[in-house]
Amino acid sequence: MVFEGLADKLQQTFKKLRGRGKLSEADVNEAMREVRMALLEADVNFKVVKDFISRIKERAVGQEVMESLTPGQYVVKIVNDELTNLMGGTQSRITISSKPPTVVMLVGLQGAGKTTTAGKLAHYLKKQNKRPLLVAADIYRPAAIKQLEVLGEQLEIPVFSLGDRENPVTIAQKAIQRALAYANDIVIIDTAGRLHINEELMQELKSVKQAVKPHEILLVVDSMTGQDAVTVAENFNQQLGLDGVILTKLDGDARGGAALSIKAVTGCPIKFAGMGEKLDALEPFHPDRMASRILGMGDVLSLIEKAQTAIDLEKAQEMEKKFRKEEFTLDDFLDQMEQVRKLGPLDQILGMLPGMGNLKKLQDVKIDEKEIKRIEAIIRSMTKKERKDPAIINGSRRKRIALGSGTRVQEVNKLLKQFTEARKMMKKLQEMKKSGKKNSGFR
Ligand code: GDP
Repeated sequence: MVFEGLADKLQQTFKKLRGRGKLSEADVNEAMREVRMALLEADVNFKVVKDFISRIKERAVGQEVMESLTPGQYVVKIVNDELTNLMGGTQSRITISSKPPTVVMLVGLQGAGKTTTAGKLAHYLKKQNKRPLLVAADIYRPAAIKQLEVLGEQLEIPVFSLGDRENPVTIAQKAIQRALAYANDIVIIDTAGRLHINEELMQELKSVKQAVKPHEILLVVDSMTGQDAVTVAENFNQQLGLDGVILTKLDGDARGGAALSIKAVTGCPIKFAGMGEKLDALEPFHPDRMASRILGMGDVLSLIEKAQTAIDLEKAQEMEKKFRKEEFTLDDFLDQMEQVRKLGPLDQILGMLPGMGNLKKLQDVKIDEKEIKRIEAIIRSMTKKERKDPAIINGSRRKRIALGSGTRVQEVNKLLKQFTEARKMMKKLQEMKKSGKKNSGFR
C-alpha cells in the first residue's frame, strides 16, 4: 500500500505524543528524531529531510504548541501542514488552453509507464467531457505504437499514428492538424523513451517541443525507483523544462520517497499519480490528502470522488432503500460486490478511511476475482425464491446448489453465513445512523 512503512512509523510516533498533557522540548526532539529516521527509511532525499525537520522543530517548540491544550495533536497538525507543503501545498492542475487543442507532451524513460499513462490520462480527460487525441510518437520501443492503439480501442479514444518510419516531430505536427480538423481539444503525445537519459533522446524531445510548443510537458516517472526518479526529474527539468510530473506505480510504493522529494528538489509539482495497472487508476495528486493518508487521518474526499465516478448512484440509493426495509437479497449482495469491486483494490479503499490505513489484517479482506466468480456461480445456481429468502435453503438445497455451481457444500454454507453477517452489519449501520452517532476524523 502507498506509504505503508512511513505511515506506520509516523503514526506510532505520534500515538506516543497524543496522550500527553504537556510536551517538553525533549519529547519533541525525540519525536523528531523518529520522524527523521522514518523519512530517511522511506528514501526521502536527505537534504529535504533536514529542512523539513528543522521547520517542524521551529514551529513545534514554539509558544503555540506548548500553550495549546492538546500539544500532541498540535504537533501532528504541524507535521501535516509541512508534509502538505513538501508535496506542493495545493493541487496542481494541467493548463487547458483557451485556444484548442491543448497540447500535452508526455516524456520519460522506458518502463516508467508512459504509454499506459497516456491512455489513463486520455480516459480521465474524456470523463471530464474533453475530446482527447492520443498520438503514438514512441517510435523506438518495439510495440509501443501497437500498445497505444490497443489502449485507444479499449477506451474508444482516437489514436494518431504514422508507424515507426516518420520522425516524432512530423508525427506530432500532423497530429495537431488532425486534432484541429476533427475538433479534438486535447492532444496527448506519447513521446519516445530510452532506457537511460542520453543526448539523442533530449535532442529529439527538444525538437518536438520546439515544433509543437506544448502547453504542458509532463514527465512520467516510476515512483518505485525512489531517489532515481528524483534524479531523472531533475535532469529532464534542467534540459527540457517541465510543467509537472506524473508519478506512476504509487500503489506499489510502500516507501514514497519520490512523492515526498520531487517537488522540494526540482520545484516541479506532481500533477497525477498512477495507482494501478487498470486504465481508471490515475488520480489527481492532492498534497493535503496524501499527507492525511500518511498520518492515518484518512482521505475521505478522494474516496467520495472515486465512489461518485465508479458507482451507479441510482442503484446505490435503491440499495439503501432495501437495507432500510430489510429486503436485501442475495441478488443484491452480488450486485453490491460488483460495485465495490469497481472502486479498486480493497486495501487501497480502506487506506483512505480515517484510522484504517494501518490495519494489518487487510490481507484477509482482499476480495479476489476468483472468489467473486465463485460466489457468482453459487448465487446463480439458486432459484429465484431461494435468492429472495435464503432461510429456506436447507441441507438438500445446499447440496443441489453446490453441485450446480461446481463448488462444495462448505462453500455454499460459507457464503450464506457471510450474507447473513452482511445483513446483520447493515442493520447495525442503519441503527447507528438513526441514533446519529458520528465518527471523528482523529483517532
Ligand atoms: P513505457 O515504456 O513507459 O511506455 O511503459 P508502459 O506504459 O508499457 O508500462 C510499463 C509497465 O508498468 C506496464 O506493465 C504497466 O502496466 C505498468 N504500470 C504503469 N503504470 C502503473 C501504475 O500506476 N501502477 C502499476 N502497478 N503499474 C503500472
